[in-house]
Amino acid sequence: MHCPFCRHPDSRVIDSRTSDDGLSIRRRRQCPECGRRFSTVETASLTVVKRSGVAEPFSREKVAAGVRKACQGRPVTEDDLAMLAQQVEETLRGTGASQLETNDIGLAILGPLRELDEVAYLRFASVYQAFDSLEDFEASIAQLRADHGRA
Ligand SMILES: [Zn+2]
Repeated sequence: MHCPFCRHPDSRVIDSRTSDDGLSIRRRRQCPECGRRFSTVETASLTVVKRSGVAEPFSREKVAAGVRKACQGRPVTEDDLAMLAQQVEETLRGTGASQLETNDIGLAILGPLRELDEVAYLRFASVYQAFDSLEDFEASIAQLRADHGRA
């Protein structure tokens, strides 16, 4: 974000606040060059409605954070996570829906995560799809094997 005063190409966020309806974020920023402050308002056309009924703007960072846990100890870089989050956002925007549920996001993560790392995929799926037995894991692994055979 350019500083509107001196055009310095960078600025520091000093405060962000989500509006009451959860549909926009107001950020207070400070220019590291001239020290002046300004605010920006970001409106999210993509809204996530949580199980509690609370709406919040879609956040790639939250997608990455959710996936990061499943990727612990796996050869997955921050760049991979950023790309995955971007892919997820594009998929969700591609549906044309402006309101999503947490479930929709989990579903959109499964595909690209499977491409990225199958172990992380199994971990994520086990939480997201609430695997509660070894059979659930076996079924998923069998599915992965079958797909490998086809490829
Ligand atoms: Zn400035």
